[in-house]
Amino acid sequence: KLTTQLPHIAFLSSPGMGHLIPLAELAKRLVCHHCFSATFLTFTNFSSPTQSSFLSSLHPSISSISLPFIPLDDIPTSARIEIILAAIVSRSVPHVRDALASLKQTTRLVAFVPDLFGTDLLPVAKELSIPHFMFFTSNCMALLFFLHLPSLHMATTCEYRDLPEPFLLPGCLPLPGKDFLDTVMDRKSDACTWILHVMKGYNSAQGILVNSFEKMEPGASKALKNEKEKHPPVYLVGPFSRSGLDEVDEFHCLDWLDQQPKSSVLFISFGSGGTLSMKQTTELAFGLEASGQRFLWVVRCPSDKDKSAAFFNMQISDNPLNYLPDGFIKRNSDRGMVVPSWAPQVKVLAHMATGGFLSHCGWNSTLESVSQGVPMITWPLYAEQRMNALMLVDGVGIALRPVAREDGLVERGEVATVVKELIDGERGKSVLRKVKELQEAAVSALSPEGSSHLDLTKAADQWMNSGKESI
Ligand code: UDP
Repeated sequence: KLTTQLPHIAFLSSPGMGHLIPLAELAKRLVCHHCFSATFLTFTNFSSPTQSSFLSSLHPSISSISLPFIPLDDIPTSARIEIILAAIVSRSVPHVRDALASLKQTTRLVAFVPDLFGTDLLPVAKELSIPHFMFFTSNCMALLFFLHLPSLHMATTCEYRDLPEPFLLPGCLPLPGKDFLDTVMDRKSDACTWILHVMKGYNSAQGILVNSFEKMEPGASKALKNEKEKHPPVYLVGPFSRSGLDEVDEFHCLDWLDQQPKSSVLFISFGSGGTLSMKQTTELAFGLEASGQRFLWVVRCPSDKDKSAAFFNMQISDNPLNYLPDGFIKRNSDRGMVVPSWAPQVKVLAHMATGGFLSHCGWNSTLESVSQGVPMITWPLYAEQRMNALMLVDGVGIALRPVAREDGLVERGEVATVVKELIDGERGKSVLRKVKELQEAAVSALSPEGSSHLDLTKAADQWMNSGKESI
């Protein structure tokens, strides 16, 4: 091995662009600012043409290896995504071992960094004496939840939604049981058992990198640093979000936005999987109409069963616009645009005409909104989104929350009120001011003296030194 070789990092991304994108941004940063080279290990199951072209467009110092396809014939097609993920990760252990061993032979491999579901792969790196860190693609509050839930699990037996008191995570807002991560809502489920196993695995990492920054979560970030002896060291290295340069504007949303006044349009989108029920789609439509505000809505085919149905159904031929109320598109054509399934989100958020974002509060969407200084309306659907919404409204104060009925439905009147308030009201001004401050803080966190840059430098220095020892 040549000592002149750049130190090399092996990243492993869970299926889904939402995981791959921030990990790729982290890799780019390490390549461009800290002189590393990198390889991405990806799972062939669930790979897509979008993913392949994304990987091949990365910096020349970043290459990728597709791990062998994992047969999943024994798993019911109706299984939750977590169960599929669990099988893919555990069955890939021998392949990851081979890939890391071979990278160790051909590069100066100084670290293995899987993303949030990859804890079962850490022992492989340990076996091969490769430093092993996790990249947590969500935020500090969610990481604290991962680190502390196993203790709450031991101490209680009821379903979390029935807990008499909220969960007190250090440095965070009290978290009611009904707002916990989706996966743990049925304690007897295999998905819950698996995620608890993943959570416990965090302790075998040598460090945890988080895609957040101090000003976004002052309390939670301090808590993570203070309770050092309880878990591996935590490095806040974000926000890493997409530039949007690669986005394609299939439906000409940007041309339409060009025709709208500054900060007047509400963008509505629910991430890569978010799906509303038929009834909720109708209420949202009438609510937007009644608000009198301009809007750009990424519409999905409704599902009454699954709030993340679109993850699996992106390719269906059914036209989502057919599910809108009769005459809706025509009646709103002077101030509303609807697009089926997908929009170039970062470019839309960056557009002058965009004044608000009604979002499912996925962490990537949240960071994209902060990076563009766009205030939000929270509409959490699955995963850790209810926790994110709590933090955005009651923590950093960059979002408004519509009030839902007991059964979860947000009625049209409530939609109209909250939309008007965000685009045109006093509370809208206040969240706008706060998100603009946070936008500046995000830039400064990544600047040469910024907290996130310094934290990443600390982790990078460790890898660099461990690499020297092994040469
Ligand atoms: N996204 C997009 N256009 C859409 C919907 C989503 O470009 O119409 C992108 C969005 O910009 C973000 C990602 O998909 O980068 C969604 O990630 P997030 O973590 O917000 O949610 P998830 O899809 O993981 O639920």
